[in-house]
Amino acid sequence: IVSKLPQTAVNIFSVMSALANEHKAINLSQGFPDYPCDPQLIKLVNKAMLAGHNQYAPMAGAVELRERIAEKADKLYNAAYNPDTEITVTAGGTEAIFTAITAVVNPNDEVIIFEPAYDCYAPAVKLAGGIVKSLQLHEPDYRIDWAMVRKLTTNKTRLIILNSPHNPTATILNEQDIKELTSLVKNTDIIILSDEVYEHLVFDGHKHLSMAAFRELKERSFVVASFGKLFHTTGWKIGYCMAPSQLMNEFKKVHQYNVFSVNTPMQIAAAEYLKDENHYLGLADFFQQKRDYFREALAATKFDLLPCSGSYFQSVTYRNVTDEKDSDFAVRLVKEFGVASIPISAFYSRAGNESVLRFCFAKKQETLDKAVERLLNL
Ligand code: GLN
Repeated sequence: IVSKLPQTAVNIFSVMSALANEHKAINLSQGFPDYPCDPQLIKLVNKAMLAGHNQYAPMAGAVELRERIAEKADKLYNAAYNPDTEITVTAGGTEAIFTAITAVVNPNDEVIIFEPAYDCYAPAVKLAGGIVKSLQLHEPDYRIDWAMVRKLTTNKTRLIILNSPHNPTATILNEQDIKELTSLVKNTDIIILSDEVYEHLVFDGHKHLSMAAFRELKERSFVVASFGKLFHTTGWKIGYCMAPSQLMNEFKKVHQYNVFSVNTPMQIAAAEYLKDENHYLGLADFFQQKRDYFREALAATKFDLLPCSGSYFQSVTYRNVTDEKDSDFAVRLVKEFGVASIPISAFYSRAGNESVLRFCFAKKQETLDKAVERLLNL
């Protein structure tokens, strides 16, 4: 069989989580909480099931959930999305990203991606026949060089994929980025795919700058969000996408033949839970405390900490420790020290070594303590 994705292997999250399980290591690799979600959420799912919400949801998602999503976007970003025509509930952020790319990228269209990039973007572009144009971001701040973006932009540029807060670098877009982006896309047909699954995890008093919040960007953007990050339930695989009706119309054509609709009881539960905004407004503080705790503890190790302004990831460089490739070092860290991380080189299209590891701190304090205790042995 001729592979459609010859360069693509099993993704790094599956690989590292499996390795962590095999060696009973502390798993700070794949991003997911190791503490329970709010028991009230589970009760709500139960309630929805008992009330008979066990058949197909509408293709775009349960009506009450789309209404709550529209209210949330209005409240947080002053953005008006019509729940009937501009919002679709998806099987996680990943399905939303894949669907948006499939819906708008034609063969030979160019798609701009910033590297390190979350691993699902490029394969989706390639499957659609598009051409990935990647721009490198550089440690420690990983800021976007907009002059370079301008150079990379051609009349074939169909899509720019943005991700703020950024996985894996934990950076966030600022006002200047928004200005540059707005002027770049002005008078073009460029579409934006904005992966904002960590929208609530922004620290140090900064505000998340959503594409939804800026009229000239909103009108050309798919905005992707995730209930896994919102409710600490990554295993539920529910997210959503918001976009102006013309874009959403194309999005739905793909979504309906991919998953058709997402499981009903969890949508009903999510809709009920979202009525209380306190269920998400406290997330930034909750994770900032974890970040601070983890950073302080890590400071005693031989690692050098990279900045972390958002998301639940903390990256480190380890040039003081070894010149091994990050992909090798990450494996050795599991086997010899019992801690699993993600090597950042997995987020680049070119093979190489970045000497950077990413750790997830969405974990119980005792898990972070144990991990750091082991890392102190380095
Ligand atoms: N988003 C998660 C991470 O970055 C992984 C999700 C997945 O495993 N597909 O760790």
